[in-house]
Amino acid sequence: MGARAGIVVTGTEVLTGRVSDRNGPWLAEQLRTLGVDIAGTLVVGDRPADLRWALRSLRDLGVDLIVTSGGLGPTADDLTGEIVAQEQGRPLRLDAVLEERIGAIVADLMARRGWTVSAEATALAVRKQALVPAGASVLGPAGTAPGLVVPIGSGVGPPVVVLPGPPWELQRLWPAAVADPAVLRALADRTELRQETLRLWNTPESEIAETLRELSGRLEGLEITTCLRAGELEVVTRFEPAAQATYDGLVAAFGTAYGGRLFSVDGGTVDDLVAAGLQARGATVATAESCTAGLLAGRLTERAGSSDWVRGGLVVYSNDTKVDLAGVPAALLDRVGAVSAEVALALAQGARERLGADVGVGITGIAGPGGATEGKPVGLVHLCVDAAWGRRSERVVLPGSRHDVRARSVGLAMHLLREVLAP
Ligand code: ATP
Ligand code: MG
Repeated sequence: MGARAGIVVTGTEVLTGRVSDRNGPWLAEQLRTLGVDIAGTLVVGDRPADLRWALRSLRDLGVDLIVTSGGLGPTADDLTGEIVAQEQGRPLRLDAVLEERIGAIVADLMARRGWTVSAEATALAVRKQALVPAGASVLGPAGTAPGLVVPIGSGVGPPVVVLPGPPWELQRLWPAAVADPAVLRALADRTELRQETLRLWNTPESEIAETLRELSGRLEGLEITTCLRAGELEVVTRFEPAAQATYDGLVAAFGTAYGGRLFSVDGGTVDDLVAAGLQARGATVATAESCTAGLLAGRLTERAGSSDWVRGGLVVYSNDTKVDLAGVPAALLDRVGAVSAEVALALAQGARERLGADVGVGITGIAGPGGATEGKPVGLVHLCVDAAWGRRSERVVLPGSRHDVRARSVGLAMHLLREVLAP
């Protein structure tokens, strides 16, 4: 078996869910791309006994490397460095050069924030972070707390890479961590694992299961997982380089079976395709949103550079704003009601016209939980994407909470946009 690693995420705030873990998944993905298998991620609070338990459990499991996140700061609950030093059998020593470097960083930080803390307290905090287990290497620091690579002192055991909790600091120190000689030695036996993603739209999971059954016998060496996300079906396949041709065969078979529903074979997202489609056509987009009230405009502008193709968006929640801002005829609203195919089209056209865009998107629906009327249930949403060269309209009844209905409406609008923009 190839190299395996274990991850320990520390922090009572992460354990209790006050902060959601961004380090465990990030580290797992980095290790995966290096060809290192993950035995598991343990999340523990800031308690010495619990951290010891996590380190010992992973060591007993026989992993080749342990990576920890968090608990390197100056406060009393930051105890990772100390516990790892004890567990690896390496006494802590003050690194005077490091102490000076951290001191300078802290002084600069304080000055920029205009903070004043007693010199004594600062010196103590700095000194704590400059304690390094004997024989460990120091990474960074990126913030104030340096990372560490702590090999086992005596006997047999994996080295422990100790990284700070703030995600950007941890990510900045990672390249140095994996370039460390002790880490390279520990991970010598790794096998490259490729991971590729197929994305399908409008495809039930059962249909994929059927296709995979038909292909069985031609999937040797592929580890395939399918996952339904935001109305899209993601098929993620992991394989060793030797199985590349088998994977190419899978992609070809999916292409034949699903045609245009297989909208991405290179990991690209619907957001990527919409942005690329707008750029390729040199076109601009504008929105008029009722039930999603700006969420689509927000989604479209998440991308840096989107000012090149997003004109703007109208939030037209009430009937009179639909009339005043988007130019929806009041008589139309009276006749067919706000949640209707006709009004979705009028919103799309209004967005185009009022905001001077090439493509307009209109969304109107009942997000719930109240608001249902005869023939118009909660979750009913009408969408329309209108451009000079084409139009896509859709009526759906979406399941789930108010949040789900709004989120799914945005996802659906993105796909309608993708279809209208397709070359
Ligand atoms: P510092 O010097 O900032 O104290 P540290 O290594 O002690 O560094 P922590 O005290 O554990 O780090 O966490 C600092 C901050 O980083 C926390 O407030 C938390 O918001 C964030 N953080 C820590 N761990 C995680 C994690 N696993 N996922 C996301 N954010 C985290
Ligand atoms: Mg801390």
